[in-house]
Amino acid sequence: MHIYKVGGAVRDRLLGRPVSDIDWLVVGATVEEMHAKGFRPVGADFPVFLHPKTGEEYALARTERKSGRGYGGFTFHASPGVTLEEDLIRRDLTINAMAEDEQGNVYDPYHGQRDLTARILRHVSPAFAEDPLRVLRVARFAARYAPLGFKVADETLALMRQISASGELQALTAERSWKEIERALMEAEPQVFVQVLRACGALTDLMPELAAHEQNLAALQRAAERQQPLNVRWACLLRGLEPAQIKALNQRLKAPRECQELASLVGEFADKGDKALELDAESLLEMLQKFDVYRRPQRFEEFIAACEMAAQGQSYPQGEYLRGAVAIVRAVDVKPLVEAGFTGQGLGAALREKRLEALKAYKNG
Ligand code: ATP
Ligand code: MG
Repeated sequence: MHIYKVGGAVRDRLLGRPVSDIDWLVVGATVEEMHAKGFRPVGADFPVFLHPKTGEEYALARTERKSGRGYGGFTFHASPGVTLEEDLIRRDLTINAMAEDEQGNVYDPYHGQRDLTARILRHVSPAFAEDPLRVLRVARFAARYAPLGFKVADETLALMRQISASGELQALTAERSWKEIERALMEAEPQVFVQVLRACGALTDLMPELAAHEQNLAALQRAAERQQPLNVRWACLLRGLEPAQIKALNQRLKAPRECQELASLVGEFADKGDKALELDAESLLEMLQKFDVYRRPQRFEEFIAACEMAAQGQSYPQGEYLRGAVAIVRAVDVKPLVEAGFTGQGLGAALREKRLEALKAYKNG
């Protein structure tokens, strides 16, 4: 049996980038041999194993066929007879289709090194079209390697256009799509992900709400530059959509709760945030209450961050002003009111009154 490093580990080493996880490829072995060596299978009908000590993934060389079931609609044919070249040709991009043996020899039958040098994301073969997820993967790699000058090859973009036009993207599960979207949003230039999807027509199927909307990609780009977390990036992308669109998009993609929540709140309150300095104390308090800044101060910080990102690089004095307002209402002490005999709804009303007074003083101060 022969063991190779494959995929991202080879690519990123050649690019001089840090390698996070290593994918291994095993050629010429049977499932039984892997079991005998103590490897643990990852799933029942998926020829991938975990190393008994390192926990790294070892996949048996395979070819694949499209089908209605299995991993993302694929079944795999793995046998000791599948060659390195046969395995590599079913991979998505030439720069991802290289292997390296233990002596450090690089196997590159589809000219990944040439494309690395030329900064081109190019599909390996027409089989690319068999998995629509690859459209998202290419867009994600474009977002990741944009700072290095990588571009999608014309012929690959044309193929991505064909795939999008075929309607195949609609067959992707929310889970697979979201995983790519989430990773893409955390890349260096996430706006490139959206641009590539738009350029190949995939946005219409994946996120139609965005396709019809000239969204603020500059805000998303800034959020990445400023190392903002996932939910802030997602909220930046969705800003400007109608509440119903935000809800529909969130639910269709099954975005995680903190992403859904912040996007909805930004959709509802961003304009108020921008006008914070002009808001009267009533409206300001109403907004802080809706955010539950008493129990969820962090979420309000994320809201402010999302508003800041959209502020065209100018300073955002509203941010400091809102933080000040939060400190003011949080500082109002309930104890004197309890001691004065307030309970239940009366206590709530009295507390609200105190907070309102404090905000009025803050506004005038
Ligand atoms: P990352 O740095 O994001 O881990 P990677 O290239 O290692 O990038 P993985 O998702 O870990 O990406 O996959 C490992 C390799 O498996 C890829 O480099 C590629 O060769 C292949 N691969 C993964 N998913 C697909 C797919 N959907 N279609 C074709 N090839 C794929
Ligand atoms: Mg990997």
